[in-house]
Amino acid sequence: MSTVKKVSMAAQGPEFSQLVQGYWRLGAWNMSTQARLSFIKQHIEMGISTVDHAAIYDAGHCETLFGQALKLDPGVRQQIEIVSKFGINGIPASATEKRVSHYDSSKQAILTSTENSLKRLGVEQLDVLLVHRPDFLMDADQVAEAFGALNQSGKVKHFGVSNFTTAQFDLLQSRLEAPLVTNQVELNPINFEVVADGTLDQLQQYRVRPMAWSCLAGGRIFSAATEQAVRLRITLSELAEELGAQSIDQVIYAWVLKHPSNPVALLGTGNIQRVRDAVAALALQMNHEQWYRIWVASKGFAVP
Ligand code: NAP
Repeated sequence: MSTVKKVSMAAQGPEFSQLVQGYWRLGAWNMSTQARLSFIKQHIEMGISTVDHAAIYDAGHCETLFGQALKLDPGVRQQIEIVSKFGINGIPASATEKRVSHYDSSKQAILTSTENSLKRLGVEQLDVLLVHRPDFLMDADQVAEAFGALNQSGKVKHFGVSNFTTAQFDLLQSRLEAPLVTNQVELNPINFEVVADGTLDQLQQYRVRPMAWSCLAGGRIFSAATEQAVRLRITLSELAEELGAQSIDQVIYAWVLKHPSNPVALLGTGNIQRVRDAVAALALQMNHEQWYRIWVASKGFAVP
């Protein structure tokens, strides 16, 4: 099997594997620590060296589970690029108090969250730290101060954002010396607003690669009973046949990766065979008309 190539995320930025394993659902996979380690190593063998985390995933538990696996074989750390995120303070829906989940990108919140992520993962440094979601109270100067401190202390190499609008991206970038290295955004055949709202155009303009999250719409593309999902499944199956793909997942990855902003695609599966299928999808070539067939199936109308 061919291995996944590494790509440069931005000028002076890090190199990521073109497919990135996301660990949001790690807690649900019910793997032993040894099984988690071997899952990570199987990815490395395929060339999928970049891993995506966030402080909020299972209230930190996903980072802890990952850190436990790394501890079994500390040499693995040098073979991977670790991305994590800060900024969402979750309050369980079951909480009886009046407090609400909220965003916090104050300097102290960033420093504390990052310190906690490093401890849970059991590593000295994150390759990339992302602002998880735009904080409407974001003070860009404070974020820049926190990023500077984390970089100087060697705790974080590079910084980026997630779910940012183009204006939010430019605001934060205006206070930073080093380029933001990505905007991690939702991109799948059910929701591809970023294709039309300027988000991907901006990244293409700056030659910064997006990270595409929930490429399979969190699994809804296979199960949703909406007219849109039904239309999509029919078109994706037809395209799978035309392209010689083994599954509609592969057609979706080819669709995401065809965008000229050159995204890296996040995987969310805990099933190693589905990871292998995603790797095989990198060989598929989709033409313009095939890409637009998915656009039309999703929208339910033809392009103007
Ligand atoms: P996804 O690939 O869209 O969805 C993964 C889910 O789809 C899993 O439950 C998987 O189940 C299921 N699935 C995959 N193939 C399937 C098939 N052929 N049939 C039925 N179900 C299938 O990815 P995601 O987990 O939503 O997101 C990926 C990563 O993106 C996350 O881990 C996280 O790192 C990142 N993310 C970031 C943000 C953000 O705001 N920045 C938001 C969401 C996610 P199996 O495990 O059984 O295959």
